[in-house]
Amino acid sequence: MPPAVIYLDHAATTPIRSEVLEVVNMHLAESFGNPSSIHRAGRRASVVLHSARQTLATLLNARPGEIIFTSGGTESDNAALYGIALARRAATGANRLITTAIEHKAVLECAEALRDRFGFLLTILPVDARGLVHVEEAAQALGDGRDVALVSVMAANNEIGTIQPLAAIGALCRAHHVPFHTDAVQAGGKLALDVNALQVDALSLGAHKFYGPKGVGVLYLRTGTPFWPLLLGGSQEGGRRAGTENIPLIAGMAKAFELAEAERVEEGMRQRALRDQLIGGLLEAIDGIHLTGDPELRLDNHASFLIEDADAEGMLIALDLAGVAASSGSACASGSHRPSHVLTAIGAPPPQAAGALRFSLGRSTTAAEIEFVVTRLPEIVRRVRGGVG
Ligand SMILES: *Cc1c(COP(=O)(O)O)cnc(C)c1O
Repeated sequence: MPPAVIYLDHAATTPIRSEVLEVVNMHLAESFGNPSSIHRAGRRASVVLHSARQTLATLLNARPGEIIFTSGGTESDNAALYGIALARRAATGANRLITTAIEHKAVLECAEALRDRFGFLLTILPVDARGLVHVEEAAQALGDGRDVALVSVMAANNEIGTIQPLAAIGALCRAHHVPFHTDAVQAGGKLALDVNALQVDALSLGAHKFYGPKGVGVLYLRTGTPFWPLLLGGSQEGGRRAGTENIPLIAGMAKAFELAEAERVEEGMRQRALRDQLIGGLLEAIDGIHLTGDPELRLDNHASFLIEDADAEGMLIALDLAGVAASSGSACASGSHRPSHVLTAIGAPPPQAAGALRFSLGRSTTAAEIEFVVTRLPEIVRRVRGGVG
């Protein structure tokens, strides 16, 4: 009998939790009012919105007025990059952006568009072979900071799992009075995200990465940070994001983040043990396999590899047939035969990069599932290498 699907692609998205689904459904049915309306249906929706904002603010150690609800991680990243860069340049003349070579495209393509269409200068920080940004290099790029409109460094990488030294870079930016944004979409519910400890001025989250619904996210924006809204046409979200709020998804996201935070430490330890079992097992069972990212400074649920002489697509199809959902690590690069920008940035040789595999664990992951992968993947690699796959 084939096993039930072993879902090891939580970095791409997570299934909605039943407790969250209940909240979303309840508000879809009952909280239809427009929170801007005076009448009681509106007030009811407004109370739900207020409570969700309070929950997220508390969990991020922020103020409620610093929470902006968006349509997801991509919008939060776009709003932060465009919104802060353009407003700060208008206010101070600062015309340079600093980001890293391994950002998600939601950040990287905004930074490139700000360069190509709006005339910003762009400094892209390199990373080392494990995907780490070096604080000294950030310091050097920052200089005295006077010409820098914004620094954006992701909290944890989606493809290779590497966790960046955010607090150190945040301290540096603060010392130079330069706004600091982090794409924390992959870190939500996995790393402690205290905006004051991290010294960030803006932070992006997307609910579907922590068992919440898709199509909803948060942009945390510190009071006083220059910001021009992306969406105009209403005074919602303090005038920083126009449009009638999606109460059911926002309430579901708040519930999902609350639950994720409550179990974060315990689940992190549990998944880390399984992750290490997977990494150890595969490194031992397969010749020519390499761990990508940092062995220590990586997300607890994240295991990513390069496998020599094996094509990722062939392995993923064979894994799928065996009931295992995994990924090559980057949706954008699959199908194309070019290595992703992240693998290029860590210096992976293109032939090896063709065999990139990512397993991202989650709440449902069991030791038996990990054992199954450790047993089956070596066979699959043999078949794919033999060209019979
Ligand atoms: C998933 C992801 C995004 C995009 O978020 P969406 O909510 O899917 O738009 C951005 N950055 C990182 C690091 C991600 O993992």
